[in-house]
Amino acid sequence: MQDHRRLGRELEIFDTDPLIGAGLPYWLPAGAAMRHALEEYVYDTERKAGYQHVHSPVLAKRELYEISGHWSHYRAGMYPPMQIGTEQLVLRPSLCPHHALIFRSRSRSYRGLPVRIAELGSMYRAELSGVLGGLTRVRSIQLNDAHIFCTPDQVGAEVAASLAMIRQAHADMGITDAWYRLSLPSGAGKYVGSPQIWDRAVALLRAALDGLSLAYETGEGEAAFYGPKIDVQIADCSEREASLSTVQVDFYQPDRFDLSYVGADGARHRPVMVHRSIIGGLERLVAHLIEVHNGAFPPWYAPVQLTVLPVSQAQGEFAEKVWRRAIDQGLRAEVLAADAGSLGARIRASKLVPYVAVIGPREAAAAEVALRLRSGVQLPPVSAAEGLAKVCAIVTARSPDLWEPRSVAD
Ligand SMILES: [Zn+2]
Repeated sequence: MQDHRRLGRELEIFDTDPLIGAGLPYWLPAGAAMRHALEEYVYDTERKAGYQHVHSPVLAKRELYEISGHWSHYRAGMYPPMQIGTEQLVLRPSLCPHHALIFRSRSRSYRGLPVRIAELGSMYRAELSGVLGGLTRVRSIQLNDAHIFCTPDQVGAEVAASLAMIRQAHADMGITDAWYRLSLPSGAGKYVGSPQIWDRAVALLRAALDGLSLAYETGEGEAAFYGPKIDVQIADCSEREASLSTVQVDFYQPDRFDLSYVGADGARHRPVMVHRSIIGGLERLVAHLIEVHNGAFPPWYAPVQLTVLPVSQAQGEFAEKVWRRAIDQGLRAEVLAADAGSLGARIRASKLVPYVAVIGPREAAAAEVALRLRSGVQLPPVSAAEGLAKVCAIVTARSPDLWEPRSVAD
């Protein structure tokens, strides 16, 4: 495992500038391409699972966080308010309060539950500059977040479905080293709500973990201030532990925001709020993917998926045609022309690219490509159309594998 801070810069995934500031990396084209593919994955997965996507502002009035409890329990992690006229605005430390208000903005019936509101949105963390670095300790986070508003009876199934989405996402991204932690409160501190409510939430999370036969450790003092959570943990190249994915059960914020739905009995009832993130913040996710794959990413989110390599200048025109066709089919492709170096040097320069299409005189004459896989496997020439179709099929299936059809995830 290599440090993502060095490898990420080498691969031109991200960089920083002292004028922008510590903890505020910018994404270069290769990183932006990866991030876009991962974001599309999240949107597709959530859409198929019945989530509704929203966008909400990154700022809100201080009062919002006084109601949510962040202002009194999480202020150390928040930026100071900005005074605009008579109002105080703050950068949001989480997306939950906005989503609670979106739920509250319409009348809700038990028939319409669960309501699953999802967003890929920015949130901000006031970290001191001494601890910042790379993509893992940042001040601005692009978070994959969702809040499920449901009846108490629906919580168990929603938690289990969220855990299943997390497991599938990890399998698709080639993350195999994550483990589960049930994050509990400690005796002292910042926690809100009654002990009975905490016990109920913990019991629901334990039941979901046991129902899926998932092994887990417990982490005392690791709960959110408003509720316990299941965290999916990863370790970085220095064996520092962090949470990548999370599922949380919250009885507190629905109370604070006075959320309700109309039940079958015609009376108002309080929904439960399940907070869940499949892949967490894009920054930490990409840092982890860089480290676990050493830059050799699964084809579906590799920055460049296909390099077209004409053996000599004479095949340049056909190489451009293959490249154009690949781009038109939605692939991220490039041509490394003969004037970019010897064939061997160009193959070495493409060593992290999943597929290299080598085009010699024979292939150009027959409108064929000889695909070379990143693993070193050299496939027999096939028509350019057939070769591109196969690559597209693997990319579209978001298979973590290079060529063989994906095995069924367990
Ligand atoms: Zn939340």
